[in-house]
Amino acid sequence: MLVDAHAHLDDKAFESDREKLLEEIESQGIVVINAGSDLKSSLKSLELARKHNFIYACVGVHPHEASNVPADYLDILRELAHDKRVVAIGEIGLDYHYNFSPKDVQKKVFEEQLLLAKELGLPVVVHSREALCDTLEILEKSGVKKGLMHCYSGSLEEAQDFLALGFYFSFGGILTFKRAEKTREVAAGLPRDRVLLETDCPYLTPEPFRGKRNDPTRLPYIARALAKIWGISEKEVEEITKSNAKNFFSIDDF
Ligand SMILES: [Zn+2]
Repeated sequence: MLVDAHAHLDDKAFESDREKLLEEIESQGIVVINAGSDLKSSLKSLELARKHNFIYACVGVHPHEASNVPADYLDILRELAHDKRVVAIGEIGLDYHYNFSPKDVQKKVFEEQLLLAKELGLPVVVHSREALCDTLEILEKSGVKKGLMHCYSGSLEEAQDFLALGFYFSFGGILTFKRAEKTREVAAGLPRDRVLLETDCPYLTPEPFRGKRNDPTRLPYIARALAKIWGISEKEVEEITKSNAKNFFSIDDF
């Protein structure tokens, strides 16, 4: 069983054929952890998880949306997160590449959601783009001990600090890209019990489908790439990453 540790099946890219796609994902035995990116998508994520056994939800506000949150957003997230189908707070973090929200607002909303995760005893799913230093500093200060660096793009050296914090890393379609030697080296060098697979769909479609919409049924192509990097079978990659996902999200059902 493959586990997609980070997907956005609530995205409007799936509006026209979501039901058909969900059937396909289920028939392939793929489990999906769906990430929220704002309050609306967090609610949609939870609704998907309530309706489908193979989907679990994360709720949270993405750094892009940090300046759009209402005053009571933490109460709304807390309420959603009390549902047992919610397995993490995410995706949250910092994005200094786009800076759609001002840095200080991104930091504040990140810190507040980390506190919420701590209060609820939930792990966090972190988005960090061109912001690893600040991300690490805020995480260290927060006292949060369980997190996933989703679509990790830092170096192996930078990863050491996050490993020391107890964090996990997930990799997606980039592993299959021709010019992603650096990411493959990082995936090769990390401890295997801290690595998960993800699609981040509808984005980051793996080869040979690059340019098309991504979805969880493409996950085997990412697993295959990781098997090649680690020099083991796809079956072994599936077992290792499933066990890591189970540990990280504390899911007993699989
Ligand atoms: Zn994402």
